[in-house]
Amino acid sequence: MEKTNAFAAQSATSALAPFPIQRREPTARDVQIDILYCGVCHSDIHTARDEWGGTSYPCVPGHEIVGRVTKVGRDVTRFKEGDLAAVGCLVDSCRTCDNCRADLEQFCDNPRATFTYNSEDKHLGGVTFGGYSSRIVVVEDFVLRVSDKLDLAATAPLLCAGITTYSPLRKWKVGKGHKVGVVGLGGLGHMAVKFAHAFGAHVVLFTTSPGKTEDARRLGAAEVVVSKNGDEMAKHNNSFDFILDTVSAKHDLGAYLTLLKRDGAMVLVGVPPEPVPVAVFNLIMPRRQLAGSLIGGIAETQEMLDFCGDHGITCDVEMIRMDQINEAYERMLKSDVKYRFVIDMASLKS
Ligand code: NAP
Ligand code: ZN
Ligand code: ZN
Repeated sequence: MEKTNAFAAQSATSALAPFPIQRREPTARDVQIDILYCGVCHSDIHTARDEWGGTSYPCVPGHEIVGRVTKVGRDVTRFKEGDLAAVGCLVDSCRTCDNCRADLEQFCDNPRATFTYNSEDKHLGGVTFGGYSSRIVVVEDFVLRVSDKLDLAATAPLLCAGITTYSPLRKWKVGKGHKVGVVGLGGLGHMAVKFAHAFGAHVVLFTTSPGKTEDARRLGAAEVVVSKNGDEMAKHNNSFDFILDTVSAKHDLGAYLTLLKRDGAMVLVGVPPEPVPVAVFNLIMPRRQLAGSLIGGIAETQEMLDFCGDHGITCDVEMIRMDQINEAYERMLKSDVKYRFVIDMASLKS
């Protein structure tokens, strides 16, 4: 076992602070990665503060990880020391249940996938610790390849914000001729705008922050609607093929459902801690769909990373030091980030 520097929350109300953790010695199929960059996802805040319930403490968040391989087990074939490597939200699953066989490891039900943090750690006991740390050890099957053509720090958030938006856009076959709405311009939202635009759709961004209009256009939105403006919203009634909702707090779903045309779909990826009510009339007439989506499987995550490598797509990031994490959380809660914080992990060593 190896002592590793990390930052952890010790309770739902305590600030994140230095906390040394243990990483296992790589077993035959493991890859040991020294972490260079880790993105800051809103799920990190929900979990560190136990907003969804079920958080075990100490809690080390972080699931947007890129780094360099420093050791591999003897049966590892796809990675060697010195390679770049990435880890997202998943570090293990059963590989044999129906969902795993369908390349949807995130829905493993035997009994469940091992998430990068706050999941049962099958090797060391306790819970898994995430990427707010200087090193991680992960079984080869859950380690991803990143392009050395892309900026590494700006690649890190693809591992969650990227795949979480790419996957539903692909599943619902968003492309040319589609009018697509994206609700919220944060970490997920700005990647949804980039992907939907890259897939050829006409993208409309809905935001509560009028100051984000210019950025949204630069990122690929053809139109921007400030969602507090009822008249602006009403102009889009019954017109959307697809809407992706990335909002992290409670909000009115009906305001967006009414914008879908017949058979249009709204997919929720944002996970407000509180239940969000739905008026059924907004669904039955004219036959609208409401669905949800959770990250993406390992094969699709690699497909997304390769797509980004081929098309030069990365995230817009603001770099922070590890000791700025608590301030970064406060800024995210005010929708004040352009558009993803990424921790430079070198700052954790010093
Ligand atoms: P983020 O960077 O904080 O962005 C959230 C955005 O939502 C904000 O920038 C803001 O956009 C909008 N927003 C915030 N509060 C709002 C409110 N009260 N009413 C309306 N809009 C509001 O968060 P993120 O990292 O993108 O994550 C977004 C959500 O997705 C979180 O709940 C996270 O846990 C969840 N998530 C889910 C998955 C999944 O697999 N389903 C994966 C990752 C994250 P504007 O300023 O443009 O309005
Ligand atoms: Zn995430
Ligand atoms: Zn499984």
